[in-house]
Amino acid sequence: MKTNRKQFIKTSLLAGTAIGMNACNFDHKTTQSKTIVSTKPIVISTWRFGIQANEAAWEILKNKGKALDAVEAGVKVPEADPNERSVGLGGRPDRDGIVSLDACIMDELGNIGSVVCLENIKHAISVARAIMEKTPHVMLAGEGAYQFAISQGFPRENLLVEASEKEWKEWLLHSNYKPIANIENHDTIGMLALDEFGNLSGACTTSGMAFKMRGRVGDSPIIGAGLYVDNEIGAATATGHGEEVIRIAGSALVVELMRQGLKPEAACKEAVMRVVKLMERRNKNLKDIQVGFIALNKLGEHGAYCVQSGFNFAIQTNSRKELIDAPYYLKV
Ligand code: ASP
Repeated sequence: MKTNRKQFIKTSLLAGTAIGMNACNFDHKTTQSKTIVSTKPIVISTWRFGIQANEAAWEILKNKGKALDAVEAGVKVPEADPNERSVGLGGRPDRDGIVSLDACIMDELGNIGSVVCLENIKHAISVARAIMEKTPHVMLAGEGAYQFAISQGFPRENLLVEASEKEWKEWLLHSNYKPIANIENHDTIGMLALDEFGNLSGACTTSGMAFKMRGRVGDSPIIGAGLYVDNEIGAATATGHGEEVIRIAGSALVVELMRQGLKPEAACKEAVMRVVKLMERRNKNLKDIQVGFIALNKLGEHGAYCVQSGFNFAIQTNSRKELIDAPYYLKV
């Protein structure tokens, strides 16, 4: 009896430590955590284009590759697709007709790289990774980022496809900046992966809000807002109205909530409730915005939550490959 109890506590402690439980919630968790089995590898990512992106990431994960390589390869899929109109090549332009990209990447060691307002280079995520690995800095912007990318051999390309140019010209007739919740005049691919070795990494890339002001930066390239990874706890990434995500330091908040013991979905929900609270405090209409978070903890448990219906995320593991509708706050 004694030995069993000792063994039980040891198992529970390991489970608790793996997701960073602190002493005060340990007791509460041990009653349920006896049989926790880690799901790995696993990859999750935002929106429908996450399905194909996950497939590319999975090729790496299933061959015992690193989460960092997987998330980079994964998000490069929509970046290279001219028909995905909110990411990379084909992304919608700013109000001056210029496509500018934001991206960031973070690995299990806390290495980070970020690029903002990058023009004429489609793989913003790889530029972010090169900034992480080859410079003494963590973030480069605009012309400097472009020059750096060229020096690293990234090819220059025109990212404005015909369909986007046509839409922009139509938009110019009224020039009314109005991001629409869920409609793809924005959207970001954010991807989180846990590899065979139990390491987490994340990547996030977007062309931001269509017809944004020139120079506007959203949450997606901001570590802590659009993406955060803590290899002891878990990882989170965001999509939707970047201004609202930045306001609550969204992804870092989700990870901190998981550190306090919340499951991924509950952590995402709590972060969304902060968005809701600040919208209400500022007398803003919640219906006008969408914010969605996805999160993955160290055990491979995942979850998501968003402000209003319409946000979905893709998951791939050894046994699952699906698109899941995220639960949401605003029931109308
Ligand atoms: N979060 C992105 C931005 O604000 C857009 C999106 O994900 O919908 O630029």
